[in-house]
Amino acid sequence: MEIIRTVKEMKEFSSQARRAGKTIAFVPTMGFFHEGHLSLMREGRRRGDPLIISLFVNPTQFGPSEDFKSYPRDFERDRKMAEEVGVDIFFAPEASDMYPPDHQTIVRVEKVTQNLCGRSRPTHFQGVATVVMMLFEIVMPHVAIFGEKDYQQLVTIQQMVRDLHMGVEVVGWPTVREADGLAMSSRNTYLLPEERKAALSLYRSLQKAKELFQKGEKKADRILHEVKGILQSEPLVKIDYVQVCDAHTLQDVDRIEGDVVVALAAYLGKTRLIDNLVYRTL
Ligand code: AMP
Repeated sequence: MEIIRTVKEMKEFSSQARRAGKTIAFVPTMGFFHEGHLSLMREGRRRGDPLIISLFVNPTQFGPSEDFKSYPRDFERDRKMAEEVGVDIFFAPEASDMYPPDHQTIVRVEKVTQNLCGRSRPTHFQGVATVVMMLFEIVMPHVAIFGEKDYQQLVTIQQMVRDLHMGVEVVGWPTVREADGLAMSSRNTYLLPEERKAALSLYRSLQKAKELFQKGEKKADRILHEVKGILQSEPLVKIDYVQVCDAHTLQDVDRIEGDVVVALAAYLGKTRLIDNLVYRTL
């Protein structure tokens, strides 16, 4: 595995790989790897050669009062884990190289970013779209893999790629969970033991939603009532939002028809966690 630290060298490597007719697979990350990241990398390994990953804690996707400074970082651990999975290129650029002082262009995807997390994190998705656009220009992948865990992010990137006619195939990959069901997240490391226990209610509430879907429940408000009830029974959980949306437009729905997503965000102390369940009826 080779570590590349500059935008210039990364572009040179990818240009050459493309000229040689190679299929570049790409997994962008913010590091502090867990099994979720590794499963995306393994899928990348299957879909392309070379497999390139990036580690960049992107400052522009954090709000002013969010956890950019304290976001967990452990380069040596990440380097070893990536190497074991068979990553070819580990791209870890500096913020000053990605965003030189005169940087002034942002990518804003409109409708799909406005609901759900977009309500409480109004500049988050423009930070995500901008950095992913830049990474795609630098890494020049044929295929890029994103987790369904960050479902709105996945939909946003798919929309951007369609709208801007970018030649990248965007693949969504299922959420990897701990043995007890908690969705893996680098932010789980922030949780105190009692918060970790209470966080299980996020998964439990989504399992309840799934059970209701499978029984044929068609009313979104019935599902919301049950999901919120489970979350509210945990005193340590403070709901940010719970919504039932069309899985493609991310607009709220009243009735369960076609593909839907139950998406939620909740605080456990200072830690904000998200999770979702995609239910496809077609
Ligand atoms: P992050 O480092 O948190 O920005 O995540 C990098 C990529 O890994 C994103 O595409 C995430 O959606 C994905 N990811 C994060 N957690 C999980 C998980 N538990 N299962 C699957 N993919 C995940």
